[in-house]
Amino acid sequence: MEYCTKSNADVDIENGELLYDDGEHKFVWLGWGRLEDGLIQTNQYLIVHGKKGTLLDPGGIHIFPKVVSNVTKYIDLDDIEYIFFSHQDPDVSSGIPMWLSVTNANVYISELWVRFLPHFGITDLSRIKGLPDSGGRVGELEVIPAHFLHAPGNLIVFDPISKILFNGDIGAAVFSDTNKYLFVDKDNFNSHINLMEGFHKRYMASSNACRYYVNKIRSLAPKMLAPQHGAVFRFEAVDMFLNWLNNLKCGADIIDEISR
Ligand code: FE
Repeated sequence: MEYCTKSNADVDIENGELLYDDGEHKFVWLGWGRLEDGLIQTNQYLIVHGKKGTLLDPGGIHIFPKVVSNVTKYIDLDDIEYIFFSHQDPDVSSGIPMWLSVTNANVYISELWVRFLPHFGITDLSRIKGLPDSGGRVGELEVIPAHFLHAPGNLIVFDPISKILFNGDIGAAVFSDTNKYLFVDKDNFNSHINLMEGFHKRYMASSNACRYYVNKIRSLAPKMLAPQHGAVFRFEAVDMFLNWLNNLKCGADIIDEISR
């Protein structure tokens, strides 16, 4: 098995799913717990390469026990080398002190946010590594700048082995507690727009920022886009999403409409 081709009805919501697995390299979606009902639902991801692991936006205090228990199905906490955070929002980063205490990993985030982290209770910044605006690398992963979508210092991660792009808040959808699904494919893309549109129009800074991102991402040709909220776009739906975002008017473009 390489890419997950399961239908939404067959997805294991509690325990998570392997989005990609070639035996040596895995990209794991860590599932949703019942604790998330009533709050903004978030996705956490783990990349395992050989014996070592990287966590992507492992989330806030509320979901920490669930994420730890699902991570340890794949890897010992001691083998997590890197933890990456796309931006500074509390649903993304408020768990940093706990992750520092249960792993030996270094934490990577845009250097814009390093001075804000002590407000989440972090006193020792020695394992916090600020990433420059231009991105760079975390191990074998490529860090791609996607600023103003929505945070002014916003970084995302491309895994060159699985060709899955961890997208932060870009492509986020807001589900109700009763209708959640993991995958967006070509047949449910159009209905999925209803769950994304409000968030993207209000939070994404401008169509200029969206088009800059779309150009960069098209050149990477990802097979899946894995956002921090909502569902994972796979195969044909990746291009459908990029086309939709490329034409979206949002943020500063529609300030009249927003402020009225
Ligand atoms: Fe956010």
